[in-house]
Amino acid sequence: MNPHDKHKQFHRFIVAKLGQITGQTILFGFFALGGVLQAQPPAGPELLDGRAGRELLLKNFRPKNQLRLTEHRRRKAAFPVVDVHTHFFFKLRSSEQALDDYVAVMDRNNIALCASLDGNLNGRLSEHMGFLWNRYRDRFVIFANIDWRGDGREDDPASWACHRAGFAQRTAQQLAVAVEKGVSGLKVFKRFGLEYRNPDGSLMAVDDPRFDPIWQACGKLGIPVIIHTADPAAFFEPIDEFNERWEELSRHPDWSFHGDDYPSRKHLLAARNRIVAKHPKTQFIGAHVANNPEDLATVGKWLDLYPNLWIETASRISELGRQPYTARKFLIRYSDRILFGTDGPWPEPRLHINWRFFETADESFAYSEKVPPPQGMWQIHGVHLPDHVLRKLYFENASRLIPGVKERVMKFRAARESKVKP
Ligand SMILES: [Zn+2]
Repeated sequence: MNPHDKHKQFHRFIVAKLGQITGQTILFGFFALGGVLQAQPPAGPELLDGRAGRELLLKNFRPKNQLRLTEHRRRKAAFPVVDVHTHFFFKLRSSEQALDDYVAVMDRNNIALCASLDGNLNGRLSEHMGFLWNRYRDRFVIFANIDWRGDGREDDPASWACHRAGFAQRTAQQLAVAVEKGVSGLKVFKRFGLEYRNPDGSLMAVDDPRFDPIWQACGKLGIPVIIHTADPAAFFEPIDEFNERWEELSRHPDWSFHGDDYPSRKHLLAARNRIVAKHPKTQFIGAHVANNPEDLATVGKWLDLYPNLWIETASRISELGRQPYTARKFLIRYSDRILFGTDGPWPEPRLHINWRFFETADESFAYSEKVPPPQGMWQIHGVHLPDHVLRKLYFENASRLIPGVKERVMKFRAARESKVKP
């Protein structure tokens, strides 16, 4: 089977909207979370196959899309791309072969460079620089991460470095040294706000003023802060028959932040916005469409309110693509403040889907090569952005915002052009 056919086959397997499921034929949430985890269903799944009048488990539902539509597959981006959200440490570890392979994928897809967000100041940063830059200095920029724990014990928050006097100032100094070595930004993970704790056991607040010197330093150093705060709306809702991502959460119950152990999503996003407001000279990138793609009108208000806030699209074409009219208007209106990201490296078919989503008006296609679809059982529709918007999204905005990007894009384009010429 050639890769194209394989891809087509994925497409055929794609699951339709939950709303299209008839409750009659599916045990919708019947074995709700507790049931799945603690007790196996009484009958084997082979008996719950929906055939001959039998019930069907949601996890076995694989509807074939019967729409026959014109398709515009994209095997590379229309313009050079800067992928501002990637994890080359977490996803490739230190495999040189995997890195070579992915750079070949970048070449094929017209990706000029990626920003790897995995440079922890605990020492991983220098290792990561070596891994990416020894051979591919022109194809990667690197963001640092705060070393919250230091030499503290994982299970003892009181021993963590971030609770010692002068931590933020020391981090600011480390960042200055890192920038000197070529680091382009700071990435803050979602564990900040949802997991990291104070010595008294309470969660550290995203807008804890102790950390202000860090955000301030990034402004002074001219590097952006990409911050992941909270998560999809469905992850803060009960895991029940009303949850639009029940299928996914039933496979990953630990992704849920519902309940009294966690702050509300609203509270977390408001705290994030307060640090953006408090540090107007620092540029913030709200990861994953500021983690509120379910409500683009509100994200638009934030962008209006905070001129130093940017957003990026990583792992959220699933959300943008299920509201294509609203998303298209939003992406065009705020085109000066939106960056392209993937959360990759992903398998190459996922990149092709990204190009198809942003560049074409194709309808009802899968947002992921995975079956079942990983972020909600629906399909997406392309937003066919105009060329001038695509250019801003793909590389122009990142060239303006992130140090080290502009010169790499120029080199990449120059190399491509010289190849084209006879
Ligand atoms: Zn990420």
